[in-house]
Amino acid sequence: LSGAMTSVTLRVGDLAAEWDRTGLIPHDLLRELGAEGRLCAEVPEQYGGWGLSSTHSGAYTAHVGSLCSSLRSVMTSQGMAAWTIQRLGTVEQAADHLPQLTGGVLAAVGFSEPGAGSDLGAMATTVRRDGGAVVVDGHKKWVTAAHYADLLVIVGRYEDGAVAVLVPADAPGVRIERIADPLGCRAAGHADVHLDGVRLPAGSVLGGHGLPPALLVTTALAYGRMSVAWGCVGMLRACLAAATAHAAGREQFGRPLAEHQLVAGHLADLYTAEQVAARVCEHASRCWDEGSPDQVVATVLAKHVSATQAARGAATAVQVLASAGSRDGHAVARAYRDAKLMEIIEGSNELCRLMLAQHALSAPG
Ligand code: FAD
Repeated sequence: LSGAMTSVTLRVGDLAAEWDRTGLIPHDLLRELGAEGRLCAEVPEQYGGWGLSSTHSGAYTAHVGSLCSSLRSVMTSQGMAAWTIQRLGTVEQAADHLPQLTGGVLAAVGFSEPGAGSDLGAMATTVRRDGGAVVVDGHKKWVTAAHYADLLVIVGRYEDGAVAVLVPADAPGVRIERIADPLGCRAAGHADVHLDGVRLPAGSVLGGHGLPPALLVTTALAYGRMSVAWGCVGMLRACLAAATAHAAGREQFGRPLAEHQLVAGHLADLYTAEQVAARVCEHASRCWDEGSPDQVVATVLAKHVSATQAARGAATAVQVLASAGSRDGHAVARAYRDAKLMEIIEGSNELCRLMLAQHALSAPG
């Protein structure tokens, strides 16, 4: 794992700021990382993946998150697509598609729609049978990595339930429309996906039958939540490193910033944020690795705590660096914009709090 981390560090180098500015990660680099299985590291070895546990994958995700949240976001999408295929697909679908995702094919997952953001029950995209084919109609919005993707995992209504369907990005009727100037994760390839009478073989429906929408959504999103949570730990580590280095090195009023107690307080807050986020993520990953029944709530908790800590921590880091961190291109400025979005995706703060309250109300004692 440490070799893999070093390799990603070398390939990202100091390019994250440039990717952020141009809004693009080189497509060839993504394909290269994908073909080495680095974008979905939990895929089992039998499908060409690394077969990492959630705990090890989390450590790797945090590392990538500390370097570049846009790359980590692409990784989250690829991992979520692979997880959805693995969990909802048949054995044959897994054998067909997972080796592609560990072989350089890039993927993205579309749930959200103009009328269905937090309320995915309001999804209007339809998947309907037509002879030996299925036809997909709908509009997905803000799909991370869709700009780079070869394969889209699209969730839609099907008969009296919901399905995830595999849609080649170049299928007739698919139109991908890049989102211009996102607030953060600017090189993550966010795009709207328009699906207009997209005709596919019936075998494109994962598992071949409908599921209760809530079950389908929870299954797919769970992976994304863990990945985002660990990515936030990485962001906090990058912010802590930048803030401590700056506070130790710069002098004001005749002594290092770190010796002014109010600045030291900021450093303590950042350290606390990083430690708290790391501990909840470790706990959640342990639940995944042990198959614990607490896995679902631990995942929501990890995502919520990490995202809120990262958003607050990044703001603290900008405060410590002040003008030195107040321009695009600086890691803390990037983290400030990127972290805010983590409070919105994969279950916003409000939705996480509602789920945690529901759990608290139902938990015994
Ligand atoms: P809304 O649902 O309109 O919510 C607006 C506000 O109201 C939020 O604060 C929300 O928390 C609050 N709210 C809504 N309902 C309630 C309620 N019942 N109680 C309390 N508060 C409530 N989607 C994908 O399908 N695939 C992706 O890969 C993807 N990537 C994304 C990446 C980024 C950076 C962003 C910003 C979004 C991405 N999305 C993606 C979309 C994302 O999932 C939605 O933005 C998110 O679900 C919120 O939906 P919304 O933006 O429509 O906000």
